[in-house]
Amino acid sequence: MLLLIAIKTIRIWWILASLEIKNGLVITMDPARRILKGASIIVEDDRILNVIASSENSTEAPAADKVMDAAGMIVIPGLVDCHVHTVQTLFRGICDNLELLPWLQKYIYPMESAMDSEDVYTSSLAGYAEMIKSGTTTCADMQSVRHTDSAFEAAGKIGIRSLIAKSMMDQDIIPESLQEDTSTSIAESMKLYRKWHQAEDGRLRCMLGPRFLQGCSEKLLGEVAQISNQTGMSVHIHAAENSTEVKNDIEKYGKRTVEKLHDLGLVGAKSLLVHCVHLSDREIGLIAEENANVVHCPSSNLKLASGICPVPRLMQSQVNVTVGVDGAACNDNLDMFKDMKLASLVSKISGQPQVQVSSVSAMNILEMATVNGARALGMQDEIGSIEKGKKADLTILNMRNAETTPMLDVLNQIIYSTDGHAVKTVIIDGKIVMENRHLTTVDEDALVQKAQSRAEKIVEKAGVGKKS
Ligand SMILES: [Zn+2]
Repeated sequence: MLLLIAIKTIRIWWILASLEIKNGLVITMDPARRILKGASIIVEDDRILNVIASSENSTEAPAADKVMDAAGMIVIPGLVDCHVHTVQTLFRGICDNLELLPWLQKYIYPMESAMDSEDVYTSSLAGYAEMIKSGTTTCADMQSVRHTDSAFEAAGKIGIRSLIAKSMMDQDIIPESLQEDTSTSIAESMKLYRKWHQAEDGRLRCMLGPRFLQGCSEKLLGEVAQISNQTGMSVHIHAAENSTEVKNDIEKYGKRTVEKLHDLGLVGAKSLLVHCVHLSDREIGLIAEENANVVHCPSSNLKLASGICPVPRLMQSQVNVTVGVDGAACNDNLDMFKDMKLASLVSKISGQPQVQVSSVSAMNILEMATVNGARALGMQDEIGSIEKGKKADLTILNMRNAETTPMLDVLNQIIYSTDGHAVKTVIIDGKIVMENRHLTTVDEDALVQKAQSRAEKIVEKAGVGKKS
């Protein structure tokens, strides 16, 4: 027995860790929310082997294959973006001054319909590249109806952690080119689940993606709820985004959007309810009771003139609120730092019922983009914080810039003073996917060129170009 303990101890002490990140200011987001100065993070394979504070004995750190000196830098958990459409990355800048429903009908549906599988691959890869460059390591990605395999291939190639849903829509208000019958929609989603769920050592996962209540039949939504219960797959759905949409739901069902989704079994711990701008008090109560998750997408909500999600009221009701960037067609970038800042600023707008200026702090916002996001995706034991045993998903920020000096309060600096350009190095699943702003898994120049030419062809094919 003693010999066994001795062997185990030797093994722990002499393991050759693959990476040590030392001397950084580490924002752990662990349960105590510790911030460690001059700490070391030891990574072995895909996991964090240890987090060693500078005050602890430095001999505890085993020799690493690679050592990164993070002096003067901040290490945060990789950001978790709970709502993006990378399929729309090639639509960036296509339009302005439209509300949700005409925006979908005039631009988004025709452009998604015009895409082939290589377009979807290129668009998704470009989106993931932008997200990694701005510090996102995990995302919940709602794709279009077709070619979703291409998004999984892109995520597999670049190394991001992605939970991907194919859009499901079976109603007549959807153009024929994107409409499926109910059984096809279910069958296609299950095909993706069998092929991709837990691929790349669990880095890729499948979600169910009924796009929004109006686009889906009650039969489809009922079956989605059932499959989610049977398989454990989460459900990613837009909800109560726009006032006309909610009015249409009331006319059709005699109920508000979230009330109806609740009747259908789609308001629960496995639900990502995206936007939730227009909620009654009863609906907030239902979301809280069922432990459902809300994804706040402030840039998209402001650009499409949808309104503002009542985050302070949701937080008062103990709802798990997360952040999403939505798509490049309505944001028009995928930088979580920009949406974190906006999420904080819009929460302080006076006039919202029951809002106090101090009700949402910089720490609350960082929680939304890390631990809350991880919980919403059912991955709270794996990602969202820098802790021993968790996945090594890390974002390193270089804050030695004029725009982030002086460093008086690190959380305020992260939320209010910086953006994705401060991200220097990104590690996902223990692999360095960007180092010193150089993407290691794709050729960025070639990707940019391909994205431009593919985007121009989509615009032409969809007939949505500017008439000049
Ligand atoms: Zn969306």
